[in-house]
Amino acid sequence: MRTGVLGGTFDPPHRGHLRLAEAARAQLALDRVVFMPAGDPYRKAGRRVSPRDVRLRLVEAAVADLPWADVSTLEIDRSGPSYTDETLAVLAREGGDWWFIAGADVLRDLPHWRNPRLLVEIARLAVAVRPPAGRVVPAEALRAVPGIEGRIDWLEMEPLDVSSTALRARVRGGADAGEWLPERVRQLIDELGLYRDTASD
Ligand code: ATP
Repeated sequence: MRTGVLGGTFDPPHRGHLRLAEAARAQLALDRVVFMPAGDPYRKAGRRVSPRDVRLRLVEAAVADLPWADVSTLEIDRSGPSYTDETLAVLAREGGDWWFIAGADVLRDLPHWRNPRLLVEIARLAVAVRPPAGRVVPAEALRAVPGIEGRIDWLEMEPLDVSSTALRARVRGGADAGEWLPERVRQLIDELGLYRDTASD
């Protein structure tokens, strides 16, 4: 079994996440992609993040039509910071081959994660460019995880300049964000009245 894990805050999930997951699935011949919403995204401490049950509903809506995608509640159900090395260690007990899927911006952040070396030992990294982060491994990541280059599978992906932050701002400003959101996610945001509060970021 070849599995990709796409971890994120998903506040909200958007077409950039789906394009990334699909690129990994197709190019690495994955049997499935597991979307893993963080329970407590500790690297975003100090930012206001929607409650975990809301983000879980949004992710489930985002992947509802994708037969190759699952949503895991492993991190949502766990208390304390959502450490990816811990998550992957638990998942990999099933056996099979594992990839952690990410945008290239994550390579810059990785040295500040817990046990990045262990993470990269358990899973290969499937990485797509996310401008301004290009197809380069930052020096800090090379220092933190020796040999990381050999553990990366670069994905071809037409860049999509979108972020959850930008979409929250659009919704808050009353602008249409439908172009970047899966339709079910757009509907749920409407229904739940998310991101309208001016203090939400
Ligand atoms: P925020 O703006 O709130 O920080 P985000 O849009 O970066 O959120 P996350 O849920 O934090 O979304 O991202 C989860 C993963 O998806 C990360 O690996 C991130 O690099 C990747 N990702 C998100 N948006 C894109 C995109 N447009 N292109 C490529 N990768 C993306």
